Amino acid sequence: MSEKKPFEIARETLKQLTTRKLAPTPVNYKSIYNEIGGIPSVDPFPTQELRVIAHALPAKTPGQQRQRALFESAIDKMNWDAVRAALVAYGGFVPTQATAGEGSLQASVSSEVSPVRSAPALTHEFLAQMGRLIEYAQPALGQDDERFVIQTTELLKALKQPNCDVTAVKQLLINYSHRLSFVAEDQSEIKNGLLKLLHLVFENISEISPDDQWLTGQMDALRQVSQPPLSLRRLDDVERRLKDVIAKQKDARQKTVEAQDEMRQMLATFIERLSQMAQSTGTFHGKLEESARLIEQAKSLEDIAPVLKEVVGATKTMANESLVARDELRDMREQASSTQIEIAKLHQELDRVSTQARHDPLTGALNRKGLEEALEREISTVRRKETPLSVAMLDIDNFKKLNDQLGHAQGDNALTHLATVARECMRPQDTLARYGGEEFVVLMPDTPFEKGVEAMTRLQRELTKRFFMAGTEKLLITFSAGVAQLSPDEAGMDAIRRADEAMYLAKRSGKNRVVSA
Ligand code: GH3
Ligand code: MG
Ligand code: MG
Repeated sequence: MSEKKPFEIARETLKQLTTRKLAPTPVNYKSIYNEIGGIPSVDPFPTQELRVIAHALPAKTPGQQRQRALFESAIDKMNWDAVRAALVAYGGFVPTQATAGEGSLQASVSSEVSPVRSAPALTHEFLAQMGRLIEYAQPALGQDDERFVIQTTELLKALKQPNCDVTAVKQLLINYSHRLSFVAEDQSEIKNGLLKLLHLVFENISEISPDDQWLTGQMDALRQVSQPPLSLRRLDDVERRLKDVIAKQKDARQKTVEAQDEMRQMLATFIERLSQMAQSTGTFHGKLEESARLIEQAKSLEDIAPVLKEVVGATKTMANESLVARDELRDMREQASSTQIEIAKLHQELDRVSTQARHDPLTGALNRKGLEEALEREISTVRRKETPLSVAMLDIDNFKKLNDQLGHAQGDNALTHLATVARECMRPQDTLARYGGEEFVVLMPDTPFEKGVEAMTRLQRELTKRFFMAGTEKLLITFSAGVAQLSPDEAGMDAIRRADEAMYLAKRSGKNRVVSA
């Protein structure tokens, strides 16, 4: 600080302003005054400007409102440190320690706590969000670990406290996440273990009865659906189909039991009838022997007449009984053969239901399993006949957009529409299969690839005539397709792969077109 008196400094300041040709503004005056007087130059606190900034800050969330209030209070106190802390905290990038007494959120932070504790993230909103996250994750972690369930409850309770103790929450979180690591691992292992067990069961059931086609169908469906990644939609489809098969199987079993009972009864009647016949035959023979003896001993015709009468009577009875037995046996035979026909019909029905396991329930087209079998059949035929086989891969254009705009149910209807039009447009010997979500494969026997391309183009044209009706809205469904002709010695799936690659070329060159591989 200078030795000069204030009025001397003031006089010298005015002189300097003139000498230096400076405008006589308060700022210039203050700056020269300080310089002459040896007073450190401190910029004035820009209260007004900072208020403008504070006003411009968004305050939509409670967190933002709190941080803006802190910022405004720092401006009121003209405290630069508090202004800096409030701004950094508002940005939410770097956790800071607010000036004592400034941040209500820091009230519970103890002295040894690191600056990280005072993060703006530790707002009630953040803690509530953490609580929700834990609650949402809970069902996936199960209720098997009692200690973990207690820890979760305690943590959730602490997070919901209006003025929660951050230190206590931190400790609860440490304990929770430690146990969580084990619980999550357990759940994953349990799921994998169950899947393995299921596969083992399916394999064994199929091996026990390889000849029961309906059972093989069921097992195929179960094996297919239990392949990861599991989807609720697939599980639901197969559950519905299996319920149908199980109901039919139960019905068939009941009818088979009834048929067996009938057969048992018929057999019992037959045996009884046989023994009756044996008995009556025995009586008849006895009667004949007795009559023969009486005839030998007879001395006159009068003696023979009653004997003959008895023989005729016994023969008549015998003949009648034989007739009744014959009729009864004929009835039994007819009944047995009609029961046999009924059982055969039931078996056919079971086989029919089981073939549904080779079809996609939504569109009725073959599923992947069905496609594999059909491909094998077609290939062996075309190789034998030495005729060409073409395969086409179709993928609906912009299907995700359709789903997003109209909903999944209308998306499903669009898939069914495409499958219906395709089936009606194809020749009877062609095969339609659903390869994936909105991808279809068409097998075209006796078809070189140029004809295959023509067939797909024809289907595209047909779709421009037959719009898909989403409620009252007419929609044009288009697809991109690739067509490949099976080469000699080429595996069927390799030809499908080539068709798939060609389909991608069609997509890349603008969609709604057909490209040959
Ligand atoms: P691109 O024209 O390039 O093929 O685009 P895209 O949207 O048609 O193809 P993308 O592969 O991006 O999306 C396919 C969509 O098909 C995503 C999925 O939600 C939907 N999807 C798959 N399976 C089904 C189903 O069974 N029903 C319905 N509604 N949608 C399905
Ligand atoms: Mg696709
Ligand atoms: Mg698509």
